[in-house]
Amino acid sequence: MTVLRLILGDQLNPHHRWFDQVDGAVVYTLMEVRQETDYVLHHAQKILAIFAAMRDFARHLRAAGHRVDYLAIDDPANRQALPANLDLLRDRHGATAFEYQAPDEWRLDRQLADYARHLGPSARMVDTDHFLSARDTAAALFQGRRRWLMEHFYRHMRRVHGVLLEPDGGPVGGQWNFDHDNRKPWPGLPAEPDDSRPRHDHGVLWRAITAAGVGSFGDPMADRLPWPLNRAEALAQLDAFLAQGLRHFGDYQDAMSIRGWRLFHSLLSFALNTKMLSPAEVVARVEEEWRRGVAPLPAVEGFIRQILGWREYVRGVYWAHMPGYDDRNALGHDLPLPSWFWTGQVGMRCLAHAVGQSLRHAYAHHIQRLMVIGNFALLAGLDPAAVHRWYLGVYIDAFEWVELPNTLGMSQFADGGLMATKPYVSGAAYIDRMGDYCRGCRYDRKARVGPRACPFNALYWDFLDRHAAALSANPRLALPYRQLARMDPADRKALRDQAADTRRRLETI
Ligand SMILES: Cc1cc2nc3c(=O)[nH]c(=O)nc-3n(C[C@H](O)[C@H](O)[C@H](O)COP(=O)(O)OP(=O)(O)OC[C@H]3O[C@@H](n4cnc5c(N)ncnc54)[C@H](O)[C@@H]3O)c2cc1C
Repeated sequence: MTVLRLILGDQLNPHHRWFDQVDGAVVYTLMEVRQETDYVLHHAQKILAIFAAMRDFARHLRAAGHRVDYLAIDDPANRQALPANLDLLRDRHGATAFEYQAPDEWRLDRQLADYARHLGPSARMVDTDHFLSARDTAAALFQGRRRWLMEHFYRHMRRVHGVLLEPDGGPVGGQWNFDHDNRKPWPGLPAEPDDSRPRHDHGVLWRAITAAGVGSFGDPMADRLPWPLNRAEALAQLDAFLAQGLRHFGDYQDAMSIRGWRLFHSLLSFALNTKMLSPAEVVARVEEEWRRGVAPLPAVEGFIRQILGWREYVRGVYWAHMPGYDDRNALGHDLPLPSWFWTGQVGMRCLAHAVGQSLRHAYAHHIQRLMVIGNFALLAGLDPAAVHRWYLGVYIDAFEWVELPNTLGMSQFADGGLMATKPYVSGAAYIDRMGDYCRGCRYDRKARVGPRACPFNALYWDFLDRHAAALSANPRLALPYRQLARMDPADRKALRDQAADTRRRLETI
């Protein structure tokens, strides 16, 4: 009896229970398929980094004695879709059983569940041994409650996993959350850590990808790709972050600067989402830095909250609301994305930097994604499904289970407030306070109307005005709605006209 086991491109965990023993009756397969390159237009680095890491994983398995059948993108036998390739491989190896690890995306979960159903009892899905909560942990926790709150989920996770707790079960440092300490702009010092990641030349693979006709955008960096190939490189990246970034992570978590593209962020999301690293080990290593007195508690707590809290929580939101979540458009926004999303050629300095580095590095840090690009898209009224597709394509770490709730929910408020208690919107003042983007910009951050006024300002007030019916009762928006109500009607009209003009000529701002 031969068992065929499928490993998806984001399941590169060498510590999975499957690999505890070498078994000659098991054939592992990884496949580079057009089904996965083409469901959205992807950044070149994302395709390259995943395929390169899959190839390395296959090498590692073979070296450990496992049988592996790898289908490369240009293999003439490759049928370019999972079910057709699985049929091919089951025949090729005379497989009598089929096993796969639980996919993280609804799309693949459905496809493989359907495939397994038609095979009957010889097919089986196993856990990925990766996450710290189940798909339905959050849904179970919030059952019967009107509102979901990340903070409630996060405290539950701290208790269940015994993270940053006193012996009596209370939070270390006397509080659960140090977010208020974590909102400083970055003055330029301490210096942004060096980017010491190893560079890889993937020229051959890149030529195979393009020759196969796979479309993409962004800089491929094919001769010096900086994303980790495997767990050893991912661990080195974690070490570098612990040594240089973590202690400043809290202070500058929300900072933005023209002089830095990653500041003190870890760049670990690709390694985490492809499962080279486990969230449990990252959380444990970070907590240890505080226990050793190396990193301050606000930084450590802030970082752990992202992984033990947000990352697991958004997964819970995803599974509770799929399918259908991706179609939500609570505010009825429908403008297409302007072409500068694919070129970075836009006059606003903040957008030019954040979009530009996304195209160059396939990466932007959280606050660029949320408060620059996402904020603009929401205020301008861009179609949330199109915004979602752009985010899903552009970022190295974008897999739908984590990208969709963040983009459509947290950033675009298209779920009507499931993910966020209020829309993440601001005028230029917030962007100016958190960084140096406004200095040297062609637009005036203080002006609301006129040709030099920063578009964020009129768009902000117009957004509140346009959506008053849906948003004005939200207690967290009480202050700006009071300001809007007190505004002179002529000023209000001028803001509406200015915003309408901006929305008409988004291509040329
Ligand atoms: C509109 C939008 C889209 C996003 N799309 C993605 C995505 O496709 N994939 C993705 O992994 N993250 C996404 N995020 C969350 C976050 O921006 C990235 O995880 C982070 O920027 C990755 O960089 P880093 O590893 O340097 O993170 P750090 O700032 O160093 O944070 C550490 C880790 O915490 C986790 N994390 C932090 N914030 C979140 C969050 N909101 N949700 C889930 N995990 C989080 C990530 O695993 C990250 O690696 C998105 C956020 C927004 C606002």
